[in-house]
Amino acid sequence: MPEFGLTTAPPTLVRTIRESGFSCTCCGACCTESEPGSNRVMVGPEEIRQIMDGTGLSFEEIAEPYPERIHDDGRDYTFGWVIHQKENKCIFLSKNRCTIYEFRPWICRTYPFVLDNNQLHTHPCNGLHKKQMTENPHQIALDLIKRQEYEHQDEEKIRKLLMTKTIPTGIPVVIDGEGIKEYHG
Ligand code: SF4
Ligand code: SF4
Repeated sequence: MPEFGLTTAPPTLVRTIRESGFSCTCCGACCTESEPGSNRVMVGPEEIRQIMDGTGLSFEEIAEPYPERIHDDGRDYTFGWVIHQKENKCIFLSKNRCTIYEFRPWICRTYPFVLDNNQLHTHPCNGLHKKQMTENPHQIALDLIKRQEYEHQDEEKIRKLLMTKTIPTGIPVVIDGEGIKEYHG
């Protein structure tokens, strides 16, 4: 996973996270579908390759195309990937534990928080507002900034790709930071 050479996070961000009282209770709710798409884990190609290295699984065994496809002018495409699910749960959830904890994607590392243009948003989570915080707010803040940077870099790669490559017609493809990839499921 890219590290971006970042070692300190803005104190205001750290403070806001600390004040949220977040302590993960390992309830597994964020890895389980509560409403359609609620536990979708969007991942970039580098994140999938990290899980491949850690688990020995293939790309296709880990992820599938982001399900909201775009159809226009004979083209059929989507942007990026999501981790497979089985019975409405992430395939890496076992007994409410993440079996790829060391290699888990940014979205999982930073849940329930997300930075959008440096604004902090918080998703519903059973671990918020605890009296004693067991998580490290500085580490979460650093991971949030790294995640935002990773997502920006991936978007920029895709933007540049689409300036030079044409999306083909008649075949389903997935567009990610590595290229335009045919996908046959
Ligand atoms: S992050 Fe929140 S929802 Fe997810 S397992 Fe921890 S407490 Fe549960
Ligand atoms: S990768 Fe791990 S933390 Fe992320 S949704 Fe799957 S089981 Fe949960």
